[in-house]
Amino acid sequence: MVLLSGPNLNGNELKYVTDCIVTGWVSSVGAYVDQFEKMSAEYAGTKYAVATSSGTTALHICLVMLGVGENDLIIAPNITFIATINAIKYTRASPILIDTNELSWQMDLDLLEEFLVNETEQKENNCYHKKSGKRIPVIMPVHVLGNMCDMDRLINLAKEHHLIVVEDSTEALGSNYKGKHAGSFGLLGTFSYNGNKIITTGGGGMIITNDEALAKKAKHLTTQAKSDAFEYIHDEVGYNYRLVNVAAAMGVAQMEQLPAFLKRKREIITFYKNELSNIGDIRFQQVSEEVSPNWWLPTIMTDHQPALLKALNENKLQSRPFWVPMNKLTMFRNDEYFTHKDHSDFVYKKCLSIPCSTNITDEELKRVTEVIKKEFE
Ligand SMILES: *Cc1c(COP(=O)(O)O)cnc(C)c1O
Repeated sequence: MVLLSGPNLNGNELKYVTDCIVTGWVSSVGAYVDQFEKMSAEYAGTKYAVATSSGTTALHICLVMLGVGENDLIIAPNITFIATINAIKYTRASPILIDTNELSWQMDLDLLEEFLVNETEQKENNCYHKKSGKRIPVIMPVHVLGNMCDMDRLINLAKEHHLIVVEDSTEALGSNYKGKHAGSFGLLGTFSYNGNKIITTGGGGMIITNDEALAKKAKHLTTQAKSDAFEYIHDEVGYNYRLVNVAAAMGVAQMEQLPAFLKRKREIITFYKNELSNIGDIRFQQVSEEVSPNWWLPTIMTDHQPALLKALNENKLQSRPFWVPMNKLTMFRNDEYFTHKDHSDFVYKKCLSIPCSTNITDEELKRVTEVIKKEFE
């Protein structure tokens, strides 16, 4: 099976993980955790980075730190991986789901603006939902597939309406907007190192920020909120959300290879675009000139999505549909969904992601495009 987006572990992973095992520093503290955090902050251009056990726990802690709780509403896109919305639900808040743009597959900023102007009111530097009277403290943009929306406009809309920005940049390590790294626009940003992401630690995550107090608080909350170095005194209900040193060792080795991975992702998307842009009704995600995406997960849009999914998987070329839109999942059915045309449903039904591991061979890439071309004949 040619994997959709599998790990590429041909660098110093084994060497650094072995170092952890030989020295016994396998668990919750260790030099690799510090090094991985330092490398991540430097790479993203933020002052601080705090490692977490996953991208999901990173998002959860961001919302906890901002005091999000019951009776709050959080704005998020309707097309995202479920972890974004789950993190909101963990705090007992609810999402306001905004429909997707049918070309860029990011949150539709026209709709967002319409929602903010017509459906919210601003009182004493807070944003409130008119209909329910609930507070809307935070907006969580998601850089879907490593692409980014017009961040200047998003940040301005957030400022005008008193919303704190927490970026779900878990898919966007290596993506930039006007030369500024994804995750560094909001008060807080996040990365994920799940097995299918652009780099992996097996499982893991990161919070990035320029705010020293929030960085300290994130470290505190993710390590059981222990407030004394010796005695077991904890000053609030904390979480065991830390990244272990063995995983961080992998992370350091993966970060060393990130530039090479980004180069390979670019080669892969260039190959797919050259081969497939003129085949049938195939379209690619629209990317604006200001954005330099990481091309994490090449995805095509076509009326023939079901047939292509079937043909590729039957040929052992792992391909996957897009996420089911959040408003379609039973747990979120009663949450607010702001839309005119339900582009989320359209995008969901027409998109499929195709093999793009950084260690995929040129031969395998050719097999993917041959199977797709054959389906169109
Ligand atoms: C991968 C991902 C996450 C969660 O990351 P995990 O490390 O798997 O918990 C959150 N949001 C989005 C959009 C993702 O793609």
